[in-house]
Amino acid sequence: MMEPMKVAVFNTKRYERRSLEAAAEGKGIDFSFFEPRLEAQTAPLANGHEAVLIFVNDVADRAVLEKLAEGGTKFLATRSAGFNQIDREAARELGMQLAYVPAYSPNAVAEFTIGLILTLGRHIHEGHNRVRRADFNLEGLCGFELRDRTVGVYGTGRIGTNVVQLLTGFGCKVLAYDEEPNEEVMLRASYVDTREELFRFCDILTLHVPLMPSTFHLVDANALKMMKKGIFIINTSRGALLDTPAVVEALKERKVGFLAIDVYEEEASLFFEDRSSDIINDDTFARLLTFPNVIVTGHQAFLTDRALRNIAETTMQSLMEFASGLPCTNSVPLP
Ligand code: NAD
Repeated sequence: MMEPMKVAVFNTKRYERRSLEAAAEGKGIDFSFFEPRLEAQTAPLANGHEAVLIFVNDVADRAVLEKLAEGGTKFLATRSAGFNQIDREAARELGMQLAYVPAYSPNAVAEFTIGLILTLGRHIHEGHNRVRRADFNLEGLCGFELRDRTVGVYGTGRIGTNVVQLLTGFGCKVLAYDEEPNEEVMLRASYVDTREELFRFCDILTLHVPLMPSTFHLVDANALKMMKKGIFIINTSRGALLDTPAVVEALKERKVGFLAIDVYEEEASLFFEDRSSDIINDDTFARLLTFPNVIVTGHQAFLTDRALRNIAETTMQSLMEFASGLPCTNSVPLP
């Protein structure tokens, strides 16, 4: 009988462990579940494991990958759609195979994006809080309707395309921007040629591009200057698409009217843990939480039952392909 494959899972959460174990049943996988995230200090936990599974805020830079390789790891899979946390060049040099989960449920993030727009645009969170303390006053709860609003969708890949579909159902006028326009979106939205046009003409801007050098801080002070006063910005993609201090300034100047974010540039030291008894050292993050027209969620847009099942099943497929020496269907594109 074949030896079970030893797989180290970093950043394990209870909700994910169940779906991983269910997907691995009978497949000859010996999981070691670790709660800490992968970083230089925790990398030795993976010694003797052929495969390592990580998530968005694990550190997979050159130094960590070298440690993993020294410990015998040959395969690294991220249980996420983004792979910006992995030094792909270093992995290639170390001969480490990489996998990801390109499309576990684009609907999950797209629907959450709409949820954020409705929540903040209609003050649903504030209404909920008031009613819980028996305050039925409606003062300050006047919202806006989505019908006829111009919404800019920056990035029309899997998630952005879903967002466009949902927005057209609300009767929005949708403008889109992407390096590679797609036909599905062309049926429902108008592509603009430059990002500047998108910034200039939309009332609501939602970001769905991956984090890369070309998208880093794509919303910075310059971009903000071009936008309409009162712009509503939503970021469910990656925190570093926004230059957050510049956005905070624009909130103070009332240039940004609403901000809804599920991701934050410095989220690695904050998100996914209960820090309610800690002192938050990040002043920019703390300032964001003081604005009544800002909502922040802790990278939960992906978190649905279907997404967890798909993440686990796709990751398992990648592990099985690796074990059998087959090409990996969902390998991370190398630089
Ligand atoms: P995708 O690869 O399907 O689409 C990305 C799109 O961006 C592509 O159409 C591509 O052409 C376009 N693009 C890339 N660089 C560009 C640039 N410089 N200018 C214009 N367009 C550019 O990705 P997806 O599945 O739609 O996911 C998008 C991002 O959402 C992921 O990279 C990830 O960072 C984020 N995400 C967040 C969560 C969450 O829980 N908050 C969950 C899943 C994914």
